[in-house]
Amino acid sequence: MNQNKISKIYEILSTTYQTFDQTDDEWMTNGLSSTPFKSLVSVALSTMTTSKRTINACKALYPKVASFEELMNIDEAELVQLIKPVAHYNRKAKNLKKMSRQIIEDRNGEIPRTAEELMSLAGIGRKCTDIMLNFVFDEPTIAVDTHVHRLVNRLGMVNATSAEETANVLSKITPKEYKKHAHEWLIQHGMNICKARVPKCQECTLVDLCGYDRKKL
Ligand code: SF4
Repeated sequence: MNQNKISKIYEILSTTYQTFDQTDDEWMTNGLSSTPFKSLVSVALSTMTTSKRTINACKALYPKVASFEELMNIDEAELVQLIKPVAHYNRKAKNLKKMSRQIIEDRNGEIPRTAEELMSLAGIGRKCTDIMLNFVFDEPTIAVDTHVHRLVNRLGMVNATSAEETANVLSKITPKEYKKHAHEWLIQHGMNICKARVPKCQECTLVDLCGYDRKKL
């Protein structure tokens, strides 16, 4: 897809959607990212599960555990019970404790600020890293989850099979002025309009720019 079309897509999305801090985003209203500690733990819990389940786990966890030190020291069985709403809770409990130990013992309690260091933490992959860099450290990264991956590939902005490959390409082709909020606009369009099973092409503001050959018109 040529650069003019890509810019046009972002121009439309940026006027269609608000950014998360302008809306009643459920992560914000439930305090899931009110501190860097909560941001990192919430994002680690959110992988391969729904937002609703993540919120329920966080609501149970944060009144009991408020720092990496407390997370490192909590009994693993108790942690499992607290985060049980999310998928893969056993593995996530192990990773959260390991990640906390890495931060306390190797990094003086500081969350690392580079992609390479963030990805060295237990349970933190590319998507979580890009979310942390974008939302906590104010970097112009674009986190790619399943909704963003599906949308940009259907549109024809990217032609990639994995979310990681999509993130690499998207980072190169997205104009600088749109990078900071690209994730927020793309995810809203992917979740609300370009739905996985039946995309709402008749309601889509990007229909004239979309290269998907199975549009529902
Ligand atoms: S036209 Fe359809 S397939 Fe293309 S982006 Fe819009 S909803 Fe998705």
